[in-house]
Amino acid sequence: MTTSSGVGALVEIDQSACEGHALCEQAAPDVYYVDDEGMVQLRQQSLTAAQITAAEAGARVCPVAALRVRHGD
Ligand code: SF4
Repeated sequence: MTTSSGVGALVEIDQSACEGHALCEQAAPDVYYVDDEGMVQLRQQSLTAAQITAAEAGARVCPVAALRVRHGD
């Protein structure tokens, strides 16, 4: 599990579930990218409020629910 924290939110990536579809990267290219091995990665560890919103959009389009944005933890 990889995580990135932002303004009151945390992005969790279940890399064991990721299948490299890159739909998250298409939805939020400032937040996610798919590396040379077809695995999603976070571009940075600290996210702005706008990037958190984008991260949520990317999480919604992931077909295997590998991404989660948690608030208030
Ligand atoms: S959309 Fe989901 S499965 Fe595809 S690269 Fe992103 S996290 Fe992985």
